[in-house]
Amino acid sequence: MSRCVVQRLRCPNCGVEQEEKVFVSVNGARIKTAVQRITEGSWGTVACLACGQRYLADPPLLYSDLSGGIWLVRYPLLQRGRFAALEAEAEQIFSREFLERPPAVIREQAAAVRRRICFGREQFVEKLLALRHGIDDRALECLKLGLSRDLLGQLFMHGPWEWLMSAVHEQGIDLTAVTLADQRPVHRTVVPIEEVRRVEEHLPQYEGLFTELFGHLYVNASRYVTDEVIV
Ligand SMILES: [Zn+2]
Repeated sequence: MSRCVVQRLRCPNCGVEQEEKVFVSVNGARIKTAVQRITEGSWGTVACLACGQRYLADPPLLYSDLSGGIWLVRYPLLQRGRFAALEAEAEQIFSREFLERPPAVIREQAAAVRRRICFGREQFVEKLLALRHGIDDRALECLKLGLSRDLLGQLFMHGPWEWLMSAVHEQGIDLTAVTLADQRPVHRTVVPIEEVRRVEEHLPQYEGLFTELFGHLYVNASRYVTDEVIV
């Protein structure tokens, strides 16, 4: 079910606040254009009533599409250090809502759904971008770890970093390395889509290498570095 609330938003340009109805939960099976609009950055645009500046409201906290095979919860980026506790919390919510209460048909469908949590707008958009382009997010995160290893010599001076996928196009996947500390971009690259397809074909081998990315709700390569940075 989609759900809206009225929120007070503050214009980043002039600081004037206004009330707007924003989605906190989106049912992707009902709102078919949601993934496209969220990934293209046109979802939740607000025009300031005082100065006319257009800006984005926060993305939804939940995107679900059981028939489409995904259930995605977004938490604030600042909470990423608590990912293990939040994974458990989200798993509990999902079980209660979709596996324990509903009739058998829904339970069956829900059992096959990819359950995910993420932190912040960029990760949320990235997950939906992967969904839109049929990219297995586990393969994408394995690819990021390989990329980090290949570029270690260029990146290590910036301190711990993570990769964010910002676009998928004919030439490949746009990946930006940002610092974990303040999300500052430090490197950009385009990876041919075939490389992620190759990882997808060999997922069992990758599972043996990067077990943390399999069987958990927070499928993100930064699992391997977050603990060291955020207390
Ligand atoms: Zn304004």
